[in-house]
Amino acid sequence: MTKETRKFEAQTQKVLDLMIHSLYSNKDIFLRELIANAADAIDKARFHSLSHKDMAQDWIIRIEPDKKRKTIKIMDNGIGMTHDEVVKNIGTIAQSGTKGFIEELSKKDQKNAPELIGQFGVGFYSAFMVSDNIEIETKKGGSSEPAVKWVSRGEGEYTIDDSTRTEQGTTVTLYLKKDEEKYLETWKLKEIVKKYSDFIEYPIKMKDMVKEPKKKEEGDKSEKPEYIDVEKDEILNSQKAIWLRNQKEITEEEYKQFFNHLSRSGGDPLKTIHYSAEGTSEFKALLFIPSKNPVTVFMPDTRKKNLHLYIRRIFITDECPDLLPEYLRFVDGVVDSNDLPLNVSRETLQDNPTLDKIEKNLIKKIIATLTQIKESEKEKYTSFFKEFGRYIKEGVHSDYENKDKLQDLLLFESMKNEPGKLISLKEYSDAMPKEQKDIYYIVGESRRIIENSPHLEMFKAKGFDVIFMTEPIDEFVVMNMFKYGEKGMRAVGKGEIDLDTEEEKKQNKEKEEQAKKEYSSLLEFIQKKLDENVNEVRFSKRLIDSACCLVGGAYDQSPYMERIMKSMNQAMPKNKRVLELNQNHPLVSAMKKLYEVNSNDPKLGEFAELLYDQALLAEGSPISNPMQFAKRVANLMVLDANNAIGSSGK
Ligand code: ADP
Repeated sequence: MTKETRKFEAQTQKVLDLMIHSLYSNKDIFLRELIANAADAIDKARFHSLSHKDMAQDWIIRIEPDKKRKTIKIMDNGIGMTHDEVVKNIGTIAQSGTKGFIEELSKKDQKNAPELIGQFGVGFYSAFMVSDNIEIETKKGGSSEPAVKWVSRGEGEYTIDDSTRTEQGTTVTLYLKKDEEKYLETWKLKEIVKKYSDFIEYPIKMKDMVKEPKKKEEGDKSEKPEYIDVEKDEILNSQKAIWLRNQKEITEEEYKQFFNHLSRSGGDPLKTIHYSAEGTSEFKALLFIPSKNPVTVFMPDTRKKNLHLYIRRIFITDECPDLLPEYLRFVDGVVDSNDLPLNVSRETLQDNPTLDKIEKNLIKKIIATLTQIKESEKEKYTSFFKEFGRYIKEGVHSDYENKDKLQDLLLFESMKNEPGKLISLKEYSDAMPKEQKDIYYIVGESRRIIENSPHLEMFKAKGFDVIFMTEPIDEFVVMNMFKYGEKGMRAVGKGEIDLDTEEEKKQNKEKEEQAKKEYSSLLEFIQKKLDENVNEVRFSKRLIDSACCLVGGAYDQSPYMERIMKSMNQAMPKNKRVLELNQNHPLVSAMKKLYEVNSNDPKLGEFAELLYDQALLAEGSPISNPMQFAKRVANLMVLDANNAIGSSGK
């Protein structure tokens, strides 16, 4: 192959520019990123060597600063890359990831950039923060393709060429920028490795000059030893797999560094769970519940990896979806099994009974830990829930076995609590007045819209709290939650609701029967008029101030969910609902009078439609003919104004 010059993709170049001209306060992380890449490459090679003995090596990462040439080399004997892999992995960045990265970067304080670098997997490019020029020489292990040399100044293009390298692995050479020469100092490099990469399993070696006592020459009788500089190969990291160490000896800082190495979430872990399981299956787990949800979870290309699975200290995969259910995908960490056979493949990992046991155990542990945080550190739990509550809700929906425990982990806003304050179903139940039997909730797109819903009027009057469910997932979740403990879960806008006590019911009975009789022909009239949309018109037990509202059947979807489904182009069967009228509202009695005077008055039909539209608007649903509605209201306003003028005698 001859030497080729290629252009970076426009997006990739943008990231590079940001990187090169950035004001990141912490450039040290470039080394962490390159070492992490080297360690990943060795992980892959080691996994491969389980079945391809010729690939086995003494795995090692080496750092080699050169003060004369002002370069640092980072070398590994990992899997290496072919020509095409270099082009694909180094020449481009996953499109969506890049776009997200650029957006986030221009939005956020530049100081947050290192976190973002980690989150978006543009790790390699961070080396351009300290380098004018970068060279990669790499040879793919177990492949007959020639080795490759890649060179770039990070300015629009790179060259790619064959290389004479013969051993598998990768060497990255950084030509340091003028003001970054501090990275040639061995003490500085040692400090960075110790801080960020201490737990990397493979030895990170570097040659350094150390003072050693000079061997005494024969006949030298002096007391004081003489020291000379000797070049020695040193291992810079302790290499201890942190999850295998004794918990008591691990500092918060060490956990944090490991978390940052693993996770794309950034910041501090909210909770570290470190334990060993014995009995039916033996494994060690070090799990982290992040405090922040990484921006990348929604991006397909930079999708978060799963837990890292090790078998007896050997990295197997971070793409093992059977290790944790989907809804716990926000958890980061490592699981190191003693029982799984080393010769597993991705396929044999599926439906593996040992893995099932591990999964069950992990779920139990995670739920128990969250429950404990919720009980002892409510504030911390609330901040967790604001970030990851969606996932717990998914769990209520999908993990039948743990549904009860997961239900207890849910938090919601409620009518009686100020915005932002979240309560659990238990707290809601504990605060229920004696006469309240069920738990009530309302679903809608925002607190602002639902808190004024006519459905809440009677609840406000009775002093019953109502849970606000304002996330799209809530309705799916609550669909499977018929009960919480002994209490039913009921939507305020569905089915017949009567909050009166037995006593009150008795008292009102006669009056109601009377009203029913008096109004029956009007209600029938309205029902016929609205027949296309309404299957019944009846008096309401929900309303105090409003004239009317719409009510669904007990198992119907909420109008909010219907709107969501419609917006996703899902065909929906048309749901007729019940129009409930407030028997004490003057509008209702006025209509009755009008009806008695002339049941053919065309106004009556218009009023019926206005009632229906009002009810739709009050719950946040669109009306079918806004123009007509506006016209009708305008007419009424004119009438009212004329009346006012008339009655004032002018
Ligand atoms: P990330 O490591 O987050 O995927 P990088 O930009 O750091 O992003 O690296 C891009 C890709 O280049 C890696 O995923 C890997 O496939 C490849 N790569 C980088 N460094 C090495 C290396 N030392 N050995 C083998 N492959 C590497």
